[in-house]
Amino acid sequence: MPDTPLVIPLPAPVLLPVKGSQAAFPVRRVYCVGRNYADHAIEMGHDPLREPPFFFQKNPQNLVTDGQFPYPPLSSNVHFEVELVMALKAGGRDIALEDALDCVWGYGVGVDFTRRDLQDLAKKAGRPWEAAKAFEASAPVSPLVSAETIGHPQQGAIQLSVNGDVKQSGDLAQMIWKLPEIICELSKLFTLDAGDIIMTGTPAGVGPVVLGDRVTCSVDGVADLALDVI
Ligand code: MN
Repeated sequence: MPDTPLVIPLPAPVLLPVKGSQAAFPVRRVYCVGRNYADHAIEMGHDPLREPPFFFQKNPQNLVTDGQFPYPPLSSNVHFEVELVMALKAGGRDIALEDALDCVWGYGVGVDFTRRDLQDLAKKAGRPWEAAKAFEASAPVSPLVSAETIGHPQQGAIQLSVNGDVKQSGDLAQMIWKLPEIICELSKLFTLDAGDIIMTGTPAGVGPVVLGDRVTCSVDGVADLALDVI
């Protein structure tokens, strides 16, 4: 109904830049994978052999691409989690493993910033994680690159440094659920579609940031990203 009058202005679309292009990737939903690297599951006090990875969500509007991370209110322990980001060009339900990568438009690198103190409280109380995970600017991401250009990364270094000190250093090959399995599992729970972003989990070494920190991160052969905590 294109002529339907709107009672408020149409909310702005969320657009992610595409590297080396004037084009943009429009975002529909943001999914995240929890505990998809065994060494991170262990550092968080969990047994990856007994508990498989799982999903949670952020909001599209939580994505930022301006190189700044404004420290959020009501927390004094905000952690970085560097992650490979998948961007879908197609979706569906119950996607077969062999069809899963055909849904991927491209990739980037991002940080799943987490109010760890609020997350710990939520875990203890058995409450949801939104306040810990889906806050403003909680998901800085790099410009995206197409799978046509770089293929589908299955291995390669994933790293994050704070003020030049390496804090997280892993490899995509350490993922418990590989990229096709993530799409396959997620599509059992939700109907996926073009525009969906999936943050694929973080390796070990997560830790806090403070005001003034310079955070740099990368996935080899995919993208890099630099942020100032302001
Ligand atoms: Mn994460």
